[in-house]
Amino acid sequence: MTAVQQPSATERTDLAHGPRRMPPMPHPLRLAIYVGLIVSLHVLLTARELTRTPFRLTELLTFGALLACGAVCIEASRRLGMPAGVARDLLSAWWLPVALLLPPVYALLIPIPLQALLQFRVRRTLLHRRVVVASALGLAGASASYVFHWVVPDPLRGAPAWVIDSGPGVATAVGCAALFTVVNTALVAVAARSAAPDSRWREVLWNRESLILDVVELCVGMLVTIAAAISLSHLLLALPPVMLLQRSLMHQQLKAAARTDAKTGLLNAAAWQREADTEISRARRSDEPLALLLIDIDLFKRVNDTYGHLVGDQVLFGVATTLRGQLRDYDITGRFGGEEFVVLLPGTDTVEACRVAERLRNWVRRLSVPADDGTVGVTVSIGVALFRTHGEDLIELLTAADLALYRAKESGRDRVCLPATTVPRPPTI
Ligand code: GH3
Ligand code: MG
Ligand code: MG
Repeated sequence: MTAVQQPSATERTDLAHGPRRMPPMPHPLRLAIYVGLIVSLHVLLTARELTRTPFRLTELLTFGALLACGAVCIEASRRLGMPAGVARDLLSAWWLPVALLLPPVYALLIPIPLQALLQFRVRRTLLHRRVVVASALGLAGASASYVFHWVVPDPLRGAPAWVIDSGPGVATAVGCAALFTVVNTALVAVAARSAAPDSRWREVLWNRESLILDVVELCVGMLVTIAAAISLSHLLLALPPVMLLQRSLMHQQLKAAARTDAKTGLLNAAAWQREADTEISRARRSDEPLALLLIDIDLFKRVNDTYGHLVGDQVLFGVATTLRGQLRDYDITGRFGGEEFVVLLPGTDTVEACRVAERLRNWVRRLSVPADDGTVGVTVSIGVALFRTHGEDLIELLTAADLALYRAKESGRDRVCLPATTVPRPPTI
């Protein structure tokens, strides 16, 4: 998780170039308190429910079957691997029926073995992150379970009338499934915000892709719940399609991860080059202008030497986020390597490209990243090159932008430059 903030102009220390120090921000403490609260609530609630729940054989069997299905799904996608960072899976297909069909204690318990399996069999991640995710899922499942059992007191007893009758049973179950998603998303989002106090709520709570996945999870979870309520043996029919969906979801995420630079979330060099080549061919056919910006962080080595590589990595992420936030959806932005970024601006002429580059330079100047004893800010130098004016293909454009960047560094850094000489090219016949 990253933490990036934009200070006001008056807060900024006026060091010429390179790292700047600012007052400290105790956000790890906020995160630790929040994690402590969530986990304690989960543990206390589980202990309370364990003492007051009468354990019945049918419920234990249902719990065991759903837990086994979840474990099989995890094992089945293990070979495929799981992308680093925030990955989505379809495991709620199994814990949603647990929450709706069984007493709340089971919803509090099921994330523990499944998250442990994910941690030790699929991908090791920061332990506190796993624990928060397990507790958030447990609490979300329990809240859905409390509400559903209040409306439908014994959803597993006898013929599942709440599924077959035209009463409010299924609609309530859908509402409770939505409650599960909302509570889980909110609990995890507060943790993300505590880790990055200046990220926007919209970023941590919602994006179109995750909303679509939430709806798919809800629908799959409801179908499995209904199938399991009618007969536990129906789980044998539900397991293969859910496994297949889970695998294709993982595959899709791994494919996206292969194009992405893990530290910044921008395109990696190879993917950027492929997309840039396509865009240049399009500009060649359509006679449209096109510009390339090569952006290099000034004196970045000093950031690493002063604050360490982890803070350096946060600065890289902060700069990448600033660039992405200031560019259009169809601009092609990548991390070219180290502390160097590259942007292709379709339909952009010299004047506009320099204007965009100046805007990016100014926004990066405003960035500040928390460090142990203050915050760090950086500047960037930018080389600009124009298609046809400075090069006819990607290699020529990159060479020209590199020359321009060299000029920017030579003339004092924190500035935007074009290549020294612009030789007009003879028209091609
Ligand atoms: P200049 O203004 O001339 O560009 O100076 P600079 O210090 O930015 O350039 P230099 O090429 O000397 O140093 C680049 C530094 O970037 C050195 C390297 O350790 C660091 N670096 C490269 N990749 C990463 C990374 O992924 N994470 C971190 N934290 N540092 C990186
Ligand atoms: Mg540099
Ligand atoms: Mg460099």
